Amino acid sequence: MFRDITTLLKDPVGFRVTINELVKRYTGVKIDRVAAIEARGFIIGSALAYQLGLGFVPIRKQGKLPAETVGHDYELEYGADRIEMHVDAVSKGERVLLVDDLTATGGTAGAACKLIESMGGKIVECCFVIDLPDLGGRARLEKQGHKVFALCEFE
Ligand code: 5GP
Repeated sequence: MFRDITTLLKDPVGFRVTINELVKRYTGVKIDRVAAIEARGFIIGSALAYQLGLGFVPIRKQGKLPAETVGHDYELEYGADRIEMHVDAVSKGERVLLVDDLTATGGTAGAACKLIESMGGKIVECCFVIDLPDLGGRARLEKQGHKVFALCEFE
């Protein structure tokens, strides 16, 4: 079942409360950049970065970014995929908050963390609006050594 967040986004109160809750969590935390995964992660991540007064780094599927990129290949249930960011998006030692709308198996966020770490970035936390715990994303990311936060969970 696909968990559709567009109904949340079109609700002005729901959208605002979602971003405000995340702003509360990360205000005062030492973060250099917010990185988010396309496409729905951009919606949450850019609003959050704006409110926190931080820069925003887009992480995209292969071939979408205009300048020189670094990438990370990862396995999906059926096949493989690749995510990319610009080579100068994250510098060594920078503290990065990774944002996406939802974690299912944790494969996409795990790959994004590896990509950021390959450039010397440190993951402050993986932040989601929704976690689907039955699919093991949180457990997988925690096993990778990351902190995980989700505003809500669905079975
Ligand atoms: P994972 O790699 O954790 O299995 O899948 C998470 C990625 O796929 C995220 O980028 C997320 O946007 C997308 N995704 C997978 N399933 C769903 C879903 O049910 N609802 C939404 N909104 N996104 C999903």
